[in-house]
Amino acid sequence: MWRIPEAPANEAARLAALTACGIMDTPREERFDRLTWLAQHIYDADVAFMGFVDGAHQWMKSVTSEAIAPVAERPKTVCQSVVSSGEPLVVGDLHSDERFAGHPALPYLTLHFYAGVPIKLAPDLVVGTLCIMREEAGDASGFDIAPLEALAAIAIDELELRTLNSELSRLSRLDPLTGLANRRAFDEELLRAGARCQRTGEPLSLLLLDLDRFKALNDTLGHQAGDEALRGFGRVLRAAARRDDTGCRYGGEEFALILAGADAEGAVAVGERIREELAECGLSHPQTGQLTTSIGVATAQGPAIDINALIADADAALYEAKRGGRDRVVPAAQAVALRAARQRLPDGAG
Ligand code: GH3
Ligand code: MG
Ligand code: MG
Repeated sequence: MWRIPEAPANEAARLAALTACGIMDTPREERFDRLTWLAQHIYDADVAFMGFVDGAHQWMKSVTSEAIAPVAERPKTVCQSVVSSGEPLVVGDLHSDERFAGHPALPYLTLHFYAGVPIKLAPDLVVGTLCIMREEAGDASGFDIAPLEALAAIAIDELELRTLNSELSRLSRLDPLTGLANRRAFDEELLRAGARCQRTGEPLSLLLLDLDRFKALNDTLGHQAGDEALRGFGRVLRAAARRDDTGCRYGGEEFALILAGADAEGAVAVGERIREELAECGLSHPQTGQLTTSIGVATAQGPAIDINALIADADAALYEAKRGGRDRVVPAAQAVALRAARQRLPDGAG
């Protein structure tokens, strides 16, 4: 009689490994299709498939025939037995095997013979299965599972490479000192946020933040104290960022915060909050007593957002914040007014 197999004892680690390799819901890939194609041909099967199993579903990365659905609810799959046991499973006839009597998939399944092997990430985490099935029932005891296991081993190599690649790509986008996004990730994220806000009509705001008189801190207290201050400011910036915002280390002691959906007023409020948080966290400065930051804010909205102009506007606003005495937030509109006022003054008066 069919009983839904229990999730393996290491289910949480299994799901984490599945997430880490980033395979779920990815497009078709020839390197995986080749493995199912080979499996089908080696075994003269009617279908071969490679499925990955998350908490709720089995999702097919590759399947050679429409006889098998691209997604199935986990409790309605045969492969969950392999995920649960971590062992290969060969069933001569699913429709007459006592272990599968009453299995919810049988009424819809014209296939009879099943052979499946686990796809395991180290050390013992079954993330999916590689399987073949035949219309005709067959002999389970004489079945040679070795070629299927060899093909699964190739799939495992691909997945391990994928996990390493996604970890490398994650690291290549992080600033090691502060753990914030680095300049490369910032550039990508700003383009993405620009495209999104252009599409939705929402405003896009950018804060450029530069620590004040940081060279003096470095020169007086040493480079390590400087690094510690940068890390501390990183924490302040991260705390100020909501889920959809991106805080980043733009350069040495320059930071940026991308606020998709925030208008100029909201962005200035975020800037002011960062100033307050920085004051409260008590990072000291040898000249001014406490570490402060100057912040330039620019906002764009509409069907043609110019990212370069947004950066230039925020930079010009930051320049005005420095010029105006530091430790302040200046929005781009105010920066324009300040510059215009200066140009109206007689030479030397600005
Ligand atoms: P301002 O208020 O005008 O911004 O003055 P500032 O001293 O902050 O600006 P300046 O650009 O003259 O100095 C920036 C300093 O930041 C110089 C550099 O030594 C320091 N710096 C840049 N990157 C790092 C880093 O990774 N670690 C440390 N400790 N210091 C850094
Ligand atoms: Mg600077
Ligand atoms: Mg500075």
